[in-house]
Amino acid sequence: MVRKKVVVIGSGPGGSAFAAMMARAGHKVTLLEKNGFPGGKCSSLPVGEYVADTGVHMFGRGPMGPFGQVARIVGEGPAWSRTLPSFTVRLSGKGNMDMYPSMFHPYSALSLAKAGMRGWFKQNMPRNVWRALSNHGAGGMLGMIRKMADPRVPLYSELQDATVEDFLTSMVASEDMLRMMHAQCMITTVLPWDRASAGEFMYILSSTMRARYLCYPRGGSGEIPASFLRAMIRNGGELRLGCEAASILVEGERARGVVTREGETIPADLVVSNAGVKRTVEMAGRDNFPEQYTARVDSLKESEAFIAVKFFLDRKVSSMRTPCMMHIPDLPPQSMFDYLEDGSIPSDLFLFVTVPSAWDPMLAPPGKDLLIVGVPAPSDLGRVEQCVGLLDLAERIAVEVFPEIRGHVVDKQRTHIAHTAHLTGRPTGECIGLGQEVGQSGTLKPLPATPVAGLYLVGSDAGGRGIGTENAAESALYLFGLLK
Ligand SMILES: Cc1cc2nc3c(=O)[nH]c(=O)nc-3n(C[C@H](O)[C@H](O)[C@H](O)COP(=O)(O)OP(=O)(O)OC[C@H]3O[C@@H](n4cnc5c(N)ncnc54)[C@H](O)[C@@H]3O)c2cc1C
Repeated sequence: MVRKKVVVIGSGPGGSAFAAMMARAGHKVTLLEKNGFPGGKCSSLPVGEYVADTGVHMFGRGPMGPFGQVARIVGEGPAWSRTLPSFTVRLSGKGNMDMYPSMFHPYSALSLAKAGMRGWFKQNMPRNVWRALSNHGAGGMLGMIRKMADPRVPLYSELQDATVEDFLTSMVASEDMLRMMHAQCMITTVLPWDRASAGEFMYILSSTMRARYLCYPRGGSGEIPASFLRAMIRNGGELRLGCEAASILVEGERARGVVTREGETIPADLVVSNAGVKRTVEMAGRDNFPEQYTARVDSLKESEAFIAVKFFLDRKVSSMRTPCMMHIPDLPPQSMFDYLEDGSIPSDLFLFVTVPSAWDPMLAPPGKDLLIVGVPAPSDLGRVEQCVGLLDLAERIAVEVFPEIRGHVVDKQRTHIAHTAHLTGRPTGECIGLGQEVGQSGTLKPLPATPVAGLYLVGSDAGGRGIGTENAAESALYLFGLLK
């Protein structure tokens, strides 16, 4: 093996996983992170006696997915905490259903049946079957069921150009099921279903249901990149926090190194950027890329955002039996996320609520909890005012859903799109990275290799699939396979 000098720009889950694997393989790795702490959108920071994530996280596959693969390669990874049942679905104005990671698990099926008997959730099975058979035929449906049961988890490439809306409404007639599936599409891709790619969504759904391991890392979400970075340092890698890459040095059509904001040039055989494809092209100089490539990069769209209210409590949350809740608004499935487009404040909101201290009690002082309430929001930085209105409504709903928090909030943080953009250095407050949407998903997603020799992308913009952080980790595994 030839020992290469590798400079990685950015310590998100993708950058840190890749850097750790390359250091383990014996390469000389330097990782530059512009923030004073590692992890990007997947960081955790101390707030008084609590530890708070920068985001609102739950993880789809934990040790059973790409993070487990990376941990096995580098010899270190987070310890995972999971609970069964794993999450609660709150049907606004009706009641709660506790669920296992798979909808097909008997426990989840029983919860759905009970909600059906109470009139909260109408599955309308005969109408669903009729619709599915009329649109796909018996052969098509059997093929789909066989595919979902395939232990290798197929890529669903044939669905990459269909929207989640077209795909689901061709098979499901029940408004309640469609509302829940639209919420699931939003929580996993952070896109409304008329933009999200059915191929990406079905891959996410099948892979998480097969893994049956919805979970959270002990120590907070930031422990994922932190554990990989510990492995990188143990294997001789260098981590420079508070060190921003200002430009990528390209000479003779090849990336030769990175110039930091302070003006230092760090030579490299390989430059691997976790800063997103758009920022990477700017750093390397647009003129160094073919026009066709820059035009394509300019046309790529980022996902929408998740914004959050974090309640630091002096008591435990008692009205939820799992660490995580999806509050589903009682709105028509087709229009529940119209506000992302039209700028309005709806009458009810989809909320993704987590209590990280229920997964890991060390994240809050004894007898206390941290309650994080996430809301899908537009990623466009011109829409901060709307975000403030959405957070006001989210707070009001949270107090209704969790009445026990009244008078027990000792501190509160509100994070929105401007905070996320500051964290990543990207031009929008996106949540995932590039949107996993029709026209830029599956085989149409940017590849980790760029047209500039020696310059590669890693993270949620290139090469992977799956939910947010796992998409980034899959990208790191793919690139490691190419370059090790
Ligand atoms: C509120 C919220 C909730 C989320 N919930 C979930 C969830 O439940 N489950 C899930 O799996 N995912 C979730 N995500 C998404 C997930 O966090 C992201 O998809 C993931 O972090 C992307 O990883 P990445 O490797 O692409 O890099 P990022 O996390 O985007 O990190 C990129 C890093 O590069 C650094 N950087 C950029 N430019 C430079 C430069 N010039 N020099 C040096 N450093 C630079 C940045 O500072 C940053 O640290 C959530 C995100 C948010 C914001």
